[in-house]
Amino acid sequence: MQARQRSYSHSESDTADDAIYAELDPAVFRKRLMSWYRQHARELPWRGITDPYRTWVSEVMLQQTRVAAVVEHYHAFLRRFPTILALALATEDDVLAAWSGLGYYRRARMLHKAAKFITEERGGVLPSTAAELRTLPGIGEYTCAAIASIAFGEGVPVLDGNVERVLLRLLGRPEEGTMISRTFLQRQAAALVPRRRVDHKSNAAGDHNQAMMELGATICLPRAPLCLNCPVFSMCKTRGEHVTLLRATQRSRPAAHLLSLRKRGTATQVLLERRADDVALMPGMYELPPLPLDAVENREPMLRVRHSITNTNYYVQVFAPRGSTDRALRRAIPAAKADLHWVRTNRLHSLPLTGLARKILQRLDVMETRPVTLPEPLSDTPAAPTRKKPRASAVKV
Ligand code: SF4
Repeated sequence: MQARQRSYSHSESDTADDAIYAELDPAVFRKRLMSWYRQHARELPWRGITDPYRTWVSEVMLQQTRVAAVVEHYHAFLRRFPTILALALATEDDVLAAWSGLGYYRRARMLHKAAKFITEERGGVLPSTAAELRTLPGIGEYTCAAIASIAFGEGVPVLDGNVERVLLRLLGRPEEGTMISRTFLQRQAAALVPRRRVDHKSNAAGDHNQAMMELGATICLPRAPLCLNCPVFSMCKTRGEHVTLLRATQRSRPAAHLLSLRKRGTATQVLLERRADDVALMPGMYELPPLPLDAVENREPMLRVRHSITNTNYYVQVFAPRGSTDRALRRAIPAAKADLHWVRTNRLHSLPLTGLARKILQRLDVMETRPVTLPEPLSDTPAAPTRKKPRASAVKV
C-alpha cells in the first residue's frame, strides 16, 4: 500500500471552483468507475460496515501497511478493543501488543491518544465531519477525509498515494511532488467526488473514494498498470506510458540477535530486551537482545531472516548459546543500555513485541503463529472495558 497523503478539506462553496478546474468529465468518470467498482471491488472486512470507529481503525492500519497484513490484524484488534471506550481504557502496552506485526507503532500510540481524548473531551463520540475530525490528536488530512466520507458520507475527496498516481496518469501530468502539484491534484480529486450525503441506502462519496483507491491498488499499479482492464482507459492520457520518479533505493544492513531460552518449572522463558523510551524507532517495545556483529563472527546462526523497515532491508542472523556453559553471547550484549527481562513464552502475545522479534519467535516455534489471543467472539455489543487482562510475566534481569 502506498503512503497516504494529504486530503482536500472541501466546502460546498468550493464546488463551483472545482468544476471550473476539472480536467475530466466528472459524471462520465464516476459512472465508469462505479460500474467497475461494483463488479470488481475486493471483499474486505472494513467495507460495508456502519461503525465509524471500525472505519477509523481500518484507515489508520492501512496507512503504509499492506492490505493482507491489515486483514490479518483488523478483527483481532477490534475483538480486543471493540469500542472507543475500550481502547481509551487500555494501557499503551496492550495497544502496542495488539498492533505488533503492523509496524509504524506511532500510529497505534496516536490512535490510543485520540481514543482517550474523544472519551474525555467529546463524550466518547467520534466527530462526523472532516473539519472536526482534523482537530483530534494524530488524525491527519487523509484520515479525516477517509472517515468523514466512508463513515459519514461527507463529500470530501481523499488523496492517498494510489489516488495521486491514478490522477497523474489520467491527466498526463509529471510526478513532481511539489505543493503546486499537490494542490492541483486536490482540486481534480475534489471535482470528481460526489457531493451527496449518505441516505441510509447509499454513500456516494465514500464509495467513490474507496473506488479511486481500489483502482490504484489493483489496476493502476505503480510498476506495470493493467491498462487493458481499466474502466477509464478511454479517458486516460498516458495509458501505461507515464514517467514516474525513481523511488529511494533500498539499503541493506546486517544485524544479529540473541535467542536465549531457559526452563523455570514447567514454563519456558525467553530473554528479551526492552527498547529505551527515548529512541526514535519503536520506543518501549520488546525485542531479542541485539548483538554486536564482531561478537558472532565465527559462529553459525540458527536462523537467517530478512526484515524490511521503510527503505532498509535488514539481513538478520539469530544466535543461540552453545549449551548452558556458553556465556560469551550473553556477555556480548552491550551492558550499558540493556534492559533485559525473562518472559514466559505463553505470555508473549500480550507483550508489545517488535515485528522482527515476533517473526523470529514464530519461525522458531517459540511463539504460536496467531496474531492475538481472542477469548470472545466479535460482537456489536461493547465488551466490558474494565476487565484487566493478565500481564506478561516478565522477570527483570
Ligand atoms: S489507463 Fe492505465 S495508466 Fe491510465 S488510469 Fe487506467 S490503469 Fe492507469
